[in-house]
Order: sequence, then C-alpha cells, then structure tokens
Amino acid sequence: MKKEYDVIVIGAGNAGLVSALTLQKQNKKVLLLESGRFVGGLSASFVRGEFTFDTNFDDFLLYGNGEESGIITSLFERLAIVDQLHPIKRATTFKIYTLNDKKEYEFPFGVNEFLAKMEDYVAGSQKSVKEFLQISKEVYEACLNIMEMKGKMDFTLLEEKYPNFLEMASLSLEEGLKFLKIPRKAAQLLSGCWLLLGSPVHKVSFVTYAFSFYAFLSFGGYGLEESSHDISLILSEEFLKYGGTLKCLNEVREIMVENNEVVGVVTTKNERFYSKKIVADISPTKVYGSLIKDNVPLKAKTLTSNRLLGALPVTVFLGLDKSLNSLELHEGTSFIYYTLNSQKEYKMMHKLSHPNLHVWAKNVLEDKAIIKITGFVYKDAFKKMVTKENYFALKKQLTENLILMFEEATGKEIKKALWEIEAATPLTYERYLKHPGGTIFGYLASGLDDFLPRILNECNEEYIKGLYFTGSFGAFLASPYATYLNGEYVANKLLGGDSDAKTW
Ligand SMILES: Cc1cc2nc3c(=O)[nH]c(=O)nc-3n(C[C@H](O)[C@H](O)[C@H](O)COP(=O)(O)OP(=O)(O)OC[C@H]3O[C@@H](n4cnc5c(N)ncnc54)[C@H](O)[C@@H]3O)c2cc1C
Repeated sequence: MKKEYDVIVIGAGNAGLVSALTLQKQNKKVLLLESGRFVGGLSASFVRGEFTFDTNFDDFLLYGNGEESGIITSLFERLAIVDQLHPIKRATTFKIYTLNDKKEYEFPFGVNEFLAKMEDYVAGSQKSVKEFLQISKEVYEACLNIMEMKGKMDFTLLEEKYPNFLEMASLSLEEGLKFLKIPRKAAQLLSGCWLLLGSPVHKVSFVTYAFSFYAFLSFGGYGLEESSHDISLILSEEFLKYGGTLKCLNEVREIMVENNEVVGVVTTKNERFYSKKIVADISPTKVYGSLIKDNVPLKAKTLTSNRLLGALPVTVFLGLDKSLNSLELHEGTSFIYYTLNSQKEYKMMHKLSHPNLHVWAKNVLEDKAIIKITGFVYKDAFKKMVTKENYFALKKQLTENLILMFEEATGKEIKKALWEIEAATPLTYERYLKHPGGTIFGYLASGLDDFLPRILNECNEEYIKGLYFTGSFGAFLASPYATYLNGEYVANKLLGGDSDAKTW
C-alpha cells in the first residue's frame, strides 16, 4: 500500500521537531524521518561514566529572567510543553579572555548592569553604548515582530514602530558601531560575543548581532533545568502523543520530484513515502547536491554553491571530579580569543592552529563539573590537514590544544581534575549530522546572506514546489532558539500563515 502523508519532515533536530509537532497538532498527518538513532540532532546527549554530556548548550535557552519571558518561552507555551519545564537562574556573568595580552573581562547579565560595567572598562563610553543597547532593544522587538509576520512583511508597521531598526537594517555590525560613534575598545568589547553567531563584525549584520546580543544580555543567565536533549525528547513524545509517525535510523537518500514538484522520499532502507509537502531540516547543499537526482533548477545549484559555510567546531567535553568553585573557575559562558579584533581573528581562523573558543561550564552532581570547550575554525581548515592516517593523532593534538588554551587564558590548571574526556571534530559532526564540512552554524551569516535578506528572499527561493527548508541553514540562522522558532515559522507557512488553516 502506498504510504502517504500530508507532510514529511526530514531530520529531527530542533527545527524539524518543532515543525513536525506544530503541523501534527493541526491534524496534519506527519512523518518525521531521522537518520540517527535518536532525535535531537545537535541537541542530543551521551553518557561517559557519571557524566551526561549534552552535545548542545545545556541550559542556554534564553528562557526568561523571572520578570520577562525569553525568546522561546511563548513558543513553548504555544506548544503546551511549559508544564514539563523548570526555569532556573544559573550564571550571573559571562567572560571574555584575550590570549595575546592575557586580559579578562567579566560582564554581568542585565542591560543596566552591563552598561555600568562597560563604563568601568572604557571611561566615557556610556552614552554611545547606551544608545547601542536602546537600538538593540528596538531591533530585538522588530525581529520578533517579523518572525510573527509569517513571511508577509509589513514595512509600514515596521517603519512606524521601529524607525531605528530600519535605519540600521542595511549596515554590518562594524558599520553600525562606527555610525553610533562607539569608542574602539568599547566597540570591541560590545561585539565580543560574535563567536556565538560564528560571524565576525565586518560580515555579520548589525541587526543579527544586536538582536542576539540583546537577548543574550537580558536572558543569558537563565535557562532550564532540562538539557537541550531533554527538550528534544519532550518534543518528540508530544509529537507521538498527537499521532505523528517518527522513524529513527531512516536516512532519506532521495527526494522524489516530478514536474518540479516534490512527491515523496526514498530512505536508505529502500522504503518509499509519499507527500506533496516536504520540510527539510537539513542543508540545501545536500538536498540540491545529492538528494534530488535530476533536473535540479540551475538557480538552486548556483545559490547553494555561492553560499559560504559557517564555522566548523572542534569540541572537547570534559568531566571534572572537582566543582568549578574549588577550581576557581567561571560557571556559564566564556569566550577565548587571541585578540579582540574579530576581522583579524576571522582571517587567522582559516588555519586549524588558530581556533577561537566558546566555553560552557557548569557544576553537576556533588563536587563535579562539566566544561565544554568548542574551538571554531573556518572553511576547509580541518579537511586540508586531516588524512586517514593522521586522524587520531590530529584529534588528540587539537584536544590538547583546546585544553592548553583554556588553561592559559584562565590561568587555572584543569588537567589534574580530569575524570572523563571526549572529543568531536568537524568529521564527527559531519558523520552524525551530515551537514557539509561538519558545520554547526549553517551558512555564514554575512552581507546579503543574513537574517533580513534571507527572510525577504525566501519566497524567491522556492525552486521546487512543496519543498521547504528549516533549521540552521534557514532564514533565522543557526542558534538553538532560532532553530526552534524557525521550525514553527516554516510549519505556519505551510499552514498558510494561519495555524487554524484547514485548507489541505
Ligand atoms: C557545542 C555547540 C555549540 C554551538 N554553539 C552555537 C552558537 O554559539 N551559536 C549558534 O548560533 N549555534 C550554535 N550551535 C548550533 C545550534 O545548536 C544548532 O545549529 C541547532 O541546534 C541545529 O538545529 P537544527 O534543527 O538545524 O538541526 P540539526 O541539529 O542539525 O539536526 C538535523 C537532523 O537531521 C538529521 N539528518 C541529516 N540528514 C538526514 C537525512 N538525509 N535523512 C534523515 N535525517 C537526516 C540529522 O541526523 C539531525 O538529527 C552550537 C552547537 C553545538 C553542538
């Protein structure tokens, strides 16, 4: 019998799970196909000894700060899963270290608190930094509004409500900071979270950074007791509860297309499933490059081959048999750069020997801690160096390098407290997630390939009828919260911009 569905979702990452659940809750018959053994994609977990490591951020969900709801709180309310979640306050500050001059900067979360601290570091910066933060708030609200517009941009409303947003919309972060006449050092510290977006100040748009930075500053110290993998499991259980069909260990090897319209998929188990609507939580590079066999529209091929891949990660997961306090280490988020000049760092990060680091640390169990250090490099820095013969030696060397850099930046020795250690290279991410080059950032957010242009161009990029993209390669970019929101956005688009749509 022909297995037919209203929608087939490929990939059960954050975005795929939210898309599938949103559609299933509207009584669509949804099939969710996942190539891995578990749901979650990057939001998965693994166990080593007494430690459970979340492969994504553990509780970096910008969930809310006790007074105000964070970015995804209302999404989780709409999905009716909030009763299963437990918000907590964790970190009070985040840190930026620079290796070349051995400096460290510690900033509190909270907009006003951050402002006061910045004035301590750069006297006389307060006025212009305050203006940056006010505009960032406006950008944040405007972007949330755009996400709610479900693909139908209302420029009149945007102009009326958010005039600064539109004024800054065409600028890169670098141009925006200059326009606001922010002193150089303050501008470097303000943009010091650029690694969260994987795109440096001269490439990423002012809007993208201002949105993320405002969210991070307002809600970054808060999260959930649940790990990102716990949330993946909750989403998949809800999906099943509403009658959805989930098939893990089912990789899609072909998307069937007839007369430029999708008709279904073929899996590596040679099963065929049919649908006129497919949501892909995987890269357009993969879809147009190998999953669609014939007659791929030239424009689709050109577009994907012109896009730059986002940063590639090397991650080391450390389980320590000491608490962070006893090691005098920071809990929460830190960034470790060689210098605060992101343009220079971006250039250098095309070499494997020059990663910049994102660190996430938290106390677990009694007197134990997890530290996750991710070094980011660009393009084929890894592929150029790796061979079949040297892979394990190279992996070991990279792992040791990350630990050394961490110890050098913090001035604290962690090697003696190491209890468990696991590492992942871009090859690991590529193997498990199948994203090109092993990137976890989708395409690099840059110039005309950033949040706003992607949203505006989306309708022109529907090259094959019935084929929709979501997830880290989509319009909302790559972060965990953005991928959840993008999952809902794309589902709503399918539903005709109206979640009550009963038209198909
Ligand atoms: C350590 C770490 C740090 C990070 N830091 C940041 C950060 O600072 N800023 C930021 O923006 N983002 C960051 N991210 C990335 C962010 O978390 C991810 O981009 C996001 O979780 C991706 O969600 P997704 O829905 O796009 O799908 P993914 O998690 O990529 O899932 C895609 C799913 O599709 C499945 N799949 C692939 N091919 C097929 C196929 N052919 N058939 C069926 N299934 C298939 C895969 O198995 C996978 O489960 C980080 C991630 C990690 C791990």
